[in-house]
Amino acid sequence: MGSDSIIFHIDMDGFFSSVEVREDPSLKGLPVVVGSDPKGGEGRGVVSTCSYEAREYGIHSAMPISKAYRLCPDAVFLPVNMQLYHQVSENIMELLKSYASGFQQVSVDEAYLDVTGIVSNYEEAAKLARKIKDHIRTSEGITCSIGIAPNKTVAKIASDYEKPDGLTVVTPDSVREFLYPLDVSKIPGVGAKSQIILEKMGIRTIGDIGRTDVQLLIAKFGKSGIRFKKIANGTYSSEIVEHRLIKSISKEDTFEEDVADTNVVKKTLAILSEQVHTRLLRKGFVFRTVNLKVRFSDFSTYTRSVTLSAYSNDKMSIYRTALRMFSEFEGMGSFRLVGVGVSKLVKMDEKQRRLDDFFDVD
Ligand SMILES: [Mg+2]
Repeated sequence: MGSDSIIFHIDMDGFFSSVEVREDPSLKGLPVVVGSDPKGGEGRGVVSTCSYEAREYGIHSAMPISKAYRLCPDAVFLPVNMQLYHQVSENIMELLKSYASGFQQVSVDEAYLDVTGIVSNYEEAAKLARKIKDHIRTSEGITCSIGIAPNKTVAKIASDYEKPDGLTVVTPDSVREFLYPLDVSKIPGVGAKSQIILEKMGIRTIGDIGRTDVQLLIAKFGKSGIRFKKIANGTYSSEIVEHRLIKSISKEDTFEEDVADTNVVKKTLAILSEQVHTRLLRKGFVFRTVNLKVRFSDFSTYTRSVTLSAYSNDKMSIYRTALRMFSEFEGMGSFRLVGVGVSKLVKMDEKQRRLDDFFDVD
């Protein structure tokens, strides 16, 4: 990425709750909380996303749903409808790609666009950003915030600056002016722990970091210290990484000797399902399709697949679906190989790996 790059960071505003309000316009203006069932204040899950009206009550994503209920029992509490959000997300990502020379989706509701070469200056970039915002609003009925900057990190900080429905332009010569007054917590990767250490060093703003000797930062944070310093001065840049499409994850096992006992095969399917599931979580995906591969001792090979009604990252649904498909082959001979896989994968954000915890998307 050259110094004259123009990068957009685009982030949907309260994505899940915005989609819910779009689906049911009577919810407009109300505090809407998407997450697990509050069960009258006894629920044990968390808030996934909430509307800006709900935020005025102090509710935010990742907060225990019971606490959200205490803060605003009259809020509209809705369950997470992942299938719907993914459909909307896919539409938006397709739309965004058409505007950019480089594209990187970072989560279900966030992406970077490289528009260098598509626009020649920041005025044109702002015009393009407004066009994109209009396009998303008219075609998907929700709003987003866009940050425009010479690199990804500054663009990300900028998209958060005027949320919701924001547009923040940070030109190369105004990077420090923009960053320096901001709280250190605005730097991606500076969490509560780092903040405490910085606070003890007398560092509160990004400007304070920019003015601190890099050696002091390295002493406290190791290599991250260098990154913090670079980010503070607006010189940290990382490439737009085109979303590499992993189409499927699968594991197969060839038996040492052909197996006729279907109980042995079923145990193997359980182990393979487990391995596929582990890999799925590590890669941060959810799936919709489960695949089975069966090879008999005569090398005849069959594949079967079932597409579920909704995206999932559930281990048991991999195993159960594989078993169901396997039942067709029971008693047909002895098996040489079996394989289990998942496909129709959708990438989740780092924070979104555990469906149990729902999602933390702002
Ligand atoms: Mg968002």
